[in-house]
Amino acid sequence: MRKVLVVEDEASIRELIALNLQMAGWEVLEAENGERGLRRLKEEGPCDAAVLDVMLPGIDGFSLCESIRRDDQNIGIIILSAKGLEEDKIRGLSIGADDYMTKPFSVSELLARIEALCRRVNRGKNQPAAKETRLVSGKFVLDEASRILYKGETPIDLTQVEFQIMELFFRNQGTALVREKILEGVWGPGYFGDVKIVDVNIRRLRMKIEDEPSSPKHILTVWGYGYRWNA
Ligand code: CA
Repeated sequence: MRKVLVVEDEASIRELIALNLQMAGWEVLEAENGERGLRRLKEEGPCDAAVLDVMLPGIDGFSLCESIRRDDQNIGIIILSAKGLEEDKIRGLSIGADDYMTKPFSVSELLARIEALCRRVNRGKNQPAAKETRLVSGKFVLDEASRILYKGETPIDLTQVEFQIMELFFRNQGTALVREKILEGVWGPGYFGDVKIVDVNIRRLRMKIEDEPSSPKHILTVWGYGYRWNA
């Protein structure tokens, strides 16, 4: 059964999310704070997804997100941020969340996003193990079987989202990709997320693969349009 961790200190919201996820066929690990969330994840995990509120007693949702992401690159993480705090969203995404929602949110939209996230995450896991595919671009090699990017001999750890953006780049070398196409290529058609998610993931990718992230040589910005891969 698919498993999801829900960390939210407000019982009414947590229970509402949990109930809806259970009705949709999920096993839900509920936690009222980050410490308990981490403990449940360790004892009863791994989970396919996690829904983390930012404002929590004790460790906050950001630190929680960082801890979870450190141990698990595959889990899909959605941050629930307070209304209107744009910097919260960006911060959440830059430390390893895959998506965010602003409170108050619609539970059905949250469910749709968790489903989208896990379809995407599972796409990688379901690839036949025997079929080894290596995409090569300049000194970079993307190993689709192990889901690892190599820069020369150096392996670079990527989240699922980052990996899929790189796949998209490698399959469209030299082509400028509009941000909406990247969003659709990674999250699937009909995804109603924000194109800012693309920008944040690109920023994170540049930190990982560029020699100088502030003057990128590989992931180039195409102003007013999107991004282009250049090996
Ligand atoms: Ca809260």
